[in-house]
Amino acid sequence: MIVYNLMCEHQHLFEGWFTSAEDYDRQIAQKLLTCPVCSSQQISKQLSAPRLNLAQSETIQESAQQLVQAEMLRLMRQWVDKTEDVGERFAEEARRIHYQEAPERGIRGVASREEARALLEEGIEVMPLPIAEMAKQKLQ
Ligand SMILES: [Zn+2]
Repeated sequence: MIVYNLMCEHQHLFEGWFTSAEDYDRQIAQKLLTCPVCSSQQISKQLSAPRLNLAQSETIQESAQQLVQAEMLRLMRQWVDKTEDVGERFAEEARRIHYQEAPERGIRGVASREEARALLEEGIEVMPLPIAEMAKQKLQ
């Protein structure tokens, strides 16, 4: 069963149900189709409803994904703008800030898993970013 959105010459929209595309062609050819509003036999087919819905939901999914990616990139950029890259000195610098030996600021850099764990145990807040590599590639 397929559903077509149909439109007559007077732009009345209605649905037609057919067993197949051939069934639709046959009914058109034999002028069996008439507009339920004005009884016109000048009927044309619009995009089929199921296909239209599918296309729309795919587009929505795609754009949602793009939105999430764009938002993530935007946040990464914001974060990069607001933080100072201390590279390999991350653990050392995070400690200096924590113990007020260095001016308080946001920093980013590289830390090993052990270093990050040690920092957390000392009560220093660190936020691991598994997407840091990806962000680095895209931002540079
Ligand atoms: Zn009509």
